Amino acid sequence: MDFRASKRNQFQVRIDMHIHMVGNGVAGSGGWLRLSGWHRWLASFMLHQLGMPASALTGDLETIYARHLLRLVQESSIDAAVLLAHERVHEPDGTPREDLGSMFVPNNVVLGLARQHPEFLAGVSIHPARRDAIDELDRCIAEGAVLMKCLPNCQNIDFSDARYRRFWQRMAEARLPLLAHTGGEHTVPVINAALADPKLLRTPLECGVIVIAAHCATKSGVLDRDYFDDWAAMLHEFPNLYGDISAMVSLNRCEHLLDCLRNNIVPRIVHGSDFPVPVLGHRLWFQGSLDRQTFQRIQRLRNPIERDWRFKEALGFTKNVLGRGSSLLRLDPIQEQTRQSTVEC
Ligand SMILES: [Zn+2]
Repeated sequence: MDFRASKRNQFQVRIDMHIHMVGNGVAGSGGWLRLSGWHRWLASFMLHQLGMPASALTGDLETIYARHLLRLVQESSIDAAVLLAHERVHEPDGTPREDLGSMFVPNNVVLGLARQHPEFLAGVSIHPARRDAIDELDRCIAEGAVLMKCLPNCQNIDFSDARYRRFWQRMAEARLPLLAHTGGEHTVPVINAALADPKLLRTPLECGVIVIAAHCATKSGVLDRDYFDDWAAMLHEFPNLYGDISAMVSLNRCEHLLDCLRNNIVPRIVHGSDFPVPVLGHRLWFQGSLDRQTFQRIQRLRNPIERDWRFKEALGFTKNVLGRGSSLLRLDPIQEQTRQSTVEC
């Protein structure tokens, strides 16, 4: 289908809101990838799951990965994917910490890919403590960013820090949504586990930012705190709060997937896969949420982006969930400019 034509009717666009761009900067993007121990093993496992050679890790990973991903999107029932950049760790005073974290995917990588391919939408990533944070935000908005993504516990971002209010106000004025990781994390190193708490999102929410809590604040590991009920309680208070069901067709995060179908929660759910995180429906079958034939039929699908959606569809998630993202994203800058309003917070 012609995605550019469908952009004009936003409710028809089926979007995967949560797909990670990965790269190593070999071709000069300025990005980097540093893997050691468990994270190196996990990266190799993910590439294998995707049908990509482990040698891609030392080649021009951006190009190999983007080409592979583009084909998967084109061969799926998804029209477009929000491709996420990945910011570096910063101190709260704005000092970058290049010595921490496992990867950096610059905003220009996803902005460039979104310009080249209508199937990709740019999800930029900006630490609000950066001294140039608002300038970078304005630049990314002008260049077509559809949302801004942060991993607070891994990038050291306390959303409740009063110093970031102007940054949230600017996002609210531009109607640029915040996709915020919530809950534990095991694919990239954690700097401060306490920052995974969705209650810290009150400040950007009060500033009027549309906030999408990634993974609906579920826990990632056995020992992580489960914040799902805290997030669900906040839905009543904040009409601008949503949750994505990314990485929830997995062994570790699927516990609350069916809870997201409750009448009071499902209108606030958007679809995302968290690609390249593996899509494994085994626990949904073990716990009786899916029968064996359905589990086997879907688990056999080779395309993980398609497999992730088909599992969710089999559980009862409808096309409304698949299409809701397009009504939240900043897809049409001209229309958005007319909606701008000054926000006090
Ligand atoms: Zn993710």
